[in-house]
Amino acid sequence: MIEELLMPIRNRLAELHPEISEWRKELHSNPELRFELPKTTAKVTSLLREFGVDAIHENVGISGIVAVIKGRETSSKKVIGFRADMDALPINEIANHDHISRERGKMHACGHDGHTSILLGAAKYLAETRNFNGTVVLAFQPAEEGGGGARAMVEDGLMDRWEIDEIYGLHNMPNLPIGNFAIRQGPLLAASDFFEINVRGQGGHAAMPHLATDTTLAGAAIIIALQQITSREVPALESAVISVTGFQTDTMAHNVIPNSARITGTARFLNNEIQKLVVKRMKDVIEGSANVYGCHAEFQYVYGVDVTENEMLCTDHAIKAAISVAGQERVATNIEPIMGGEDFSDMLKTRPGAFIFLGNGASAMLHHPEYDFNDDAIPIGSSWFVELAEQRMPI
Ligand SMILES: [Zn+2]
Ligand SMILES: [Zn+2]
Repeated sequence: MIEELLMPIRNRLAELHPEISEWRKELHSNPELRFELPKTTAKVTSLLREFGVDAIHENVGISGIVAVIKGRETSSKKVIGFRADMDALPINEIANHDHISRERGKMHACGHDGHTSILLGAAKYLAETRNFNGTVVLAFQPAEEGGGGARAMVEDGLMDRWEIDEIYGLHNMPNLPIGNFAIRQGPLLAASDFFEINVRGQGGHAAMPHLATDTTLAGAAIIIALQQITSREVPALESAVISVTGFQTDTMAHNVIPNSARITGTARFLNNEIQKLVVKRMKDVIEGSANVYGCHAEFQYVYGVDVTENEMLCTDHAIKAAISVAGQERVATNIEPIMGGEDFSDMLKTRPGAFIFLGNGASAMLHHPEYDFNDDAIPIGSSWFVELAEQRMPI
């Protein structure tokens, strides 16, 4: 089965597969969080050095790495950027394989160990062969899982200093079969924001609610009213999610009406106009609902990552490269968007580009303690980057 799937893979990448899987397992055993990636970045830079890439720049966007590989010909000034994320998550891994995390409370539960290894594999191949006319710039990014690593690299000049024309990235997708790709033009992943509501009132004895203001009741009314925004005010063909994920009051006692209640949650959108509408209505509904019960509400809204939006032509380039690797029947070109968020959106806001999903086969879901990246996806992902470089910058 695997051999049949690997048929479209170039011989050299198939040959590198065991070596790249070893790097992946080493990264998996040593997960690091956010911008604090000393072991990961040391491994990445030492491999890039070994491959003989033309330049390595460290500490771009705090702990990001940028590497440059020039083609055999450089009469074209074209520069194609490839991005991989390097960070893990604060999760306790549940596994019985040999490469289980050695750091308690930290785990590569989103497969960024796989993404980094895939791009390293492509780098090794491209540095050996250089069958393109132009320049490849590799961006190894910190802090995708919160922290704004993509933004940090962009603000440190990633696109301008290395004159990147187009930028591409990939993410593994559990339960999409190995050897498959999935993508869509336009919005692929959602804008993902957070909010916190603090309801304040006059607490009191639970036996005499008429002498207090009921912050718990006001909080409950707010939670229900928020769901009516998505069902009654957002147009039916648009997408919006408001999820309340926390509700706490300042007392554990059965017989006390609390002074305050705290409500937390996340909101997701595929369209910035809908986001504006929802945020405005959230404020009105929260303040109004609190007032009805004689309480006061403070609403804090934190903008997280923006919509990951695939540029039209770059999506076509990404599809063409995927078809060359996997064949037409294994590339889904118009999937439904997913309401998860990705900070690659910060790179796509500054340059045209595209983001694609790569099948991880049957596996636990991303961010699950039993998740593991599937090494069988490595040569397929590395081949996609190689195809993109050679197809976008032919000799
Ligand atoms: Zn993740
Ligand atoms: Zn991820």
